[in-house]
Amino acid sequence: MTDAGLLHDRRAVAGVVRDIVAAAKELDREATFMEVCGTHTQAVAAAGLRRMLPDGVRLISGPGCPVCVTPVGYLDRALALAALADTVVCTFGDLMRVPSSTATLEQARADGARVEVVYSPRDALERARNAPGTRVVFLAVGFETTTPTIAAAVAEAEANDVPNFLILPGNKVIPPAMLALVQDEELNVDGFLLPGHVSVLTGWEAFRFLADDHHVPGVVVGFSPTDVLRGVLELLRQRRDGTATVENLYGRAVSPAGNLTAAELVDGFFEPADADWRGFGVIPCSGLTLRERYSNRDAGDIPVELPDPKEPVGCRCGEVLRGVIDPPECPLFDAGCLPSDPIGACMVSGEGTCSAWFRHERWRGEAR
Ligand code: SF4
Repeated sequence: MTDAGLLHDRRAVAGVVRDIVAAAKELDREATFMEVCGTHTQAVAAAGLRRMLPDGVRLISGPGCPVCVTPVGYLDRALALAALADTVVCTFGDLMRVPSSTATLEQARADGARVEVVYSPRDALERARNAPGTRVVFLAVGFETTTPTIAAAVAEAEANDVPNFLILPGNKVIPPAMLALVQDEELNVDGFLLPGHVSVLTGWEAFRFLADDHHVPGVVVGFSPTDVLRGVLELLRQRRDGTATVENLYGRAVSPAGNLTAAELVDGFFEPADADWRGFGVIPCSGLTLRERYSNRDAGDIPVELPDPKEPVGCRCGEVLRGVIDPPECPLFDAGCLPSDPIGACMVSGEGTCSAWFRHERWRGEAR
């Protein structure tokens, strides 16, 4: 069997689970590990991996879904921009149903606002190129994996003189959020499954600070059941031995330093900025904003009237995103908040923790 086949092989999975069960018996207390990647959230839920873990080993989800961590104030601004004359707001589809303080982008579009779904920032750039009299604003939401494509679109707009292409900067970077998590006194995370896709861009060394400065281990893993379970096993061994290192078990895709070409592209157009995360508040240097010389493309500078930011009543997305509660602990979970009719952001995107639990894990019959 090839390496790729082994990653999904039932016997290989069962073997790792046996090793996990054996390692868990040597623990002196419960161990809690967190993944911080929407694709891991989906993969763990879809494969039922949580159900394979023995008592005393918990795997929780953190702020790995970019749509979910986008704060309500960002959505308020997007709606206000969409209401301006001669302005079109372009967005990835996931953001359409995330509630703002007043409505979703989908509802605003039904009421006449000019909101269009695109599949890439370049689609929005093309929209601007084809409508010179219209201001086209792309909602720039995403983590390290998305930002290079946005930087490339801005670069193309500059090179081809498309002045009516703007972005609303909302991009975020993961390492500062993880620092916030290890400093969160409400949480007690014993180790992290590090985000595979983000690590392709950042390189695994971007997460060394977890072990070096905070004595919290981390493991970069891929997305197959075997990948994830091997990561859990590595974290368990480190927890048992009292060690803390950052390991890369996704060497087929992740290097120590990451994609330097993409980093250079992003650095040419963006600079670090403090950013507001749903559930966390403002995290220092966790966002990206356009460099001063490209401020003419920053739709965040356009004056608009904004409502006071207001979260959906009863929604506990903030606690879900910090890993403080599992989705079934929200009273609205499967009781008004559904993927087909979401109340909170974490139920909208397929990468959202509440959505993943609803689709794959709500039959577990217990919150934890
Ligand atoms: Fe928010 Fe719905 Fe999740 Fe509750 S179940 S935390 S309302 S997304």
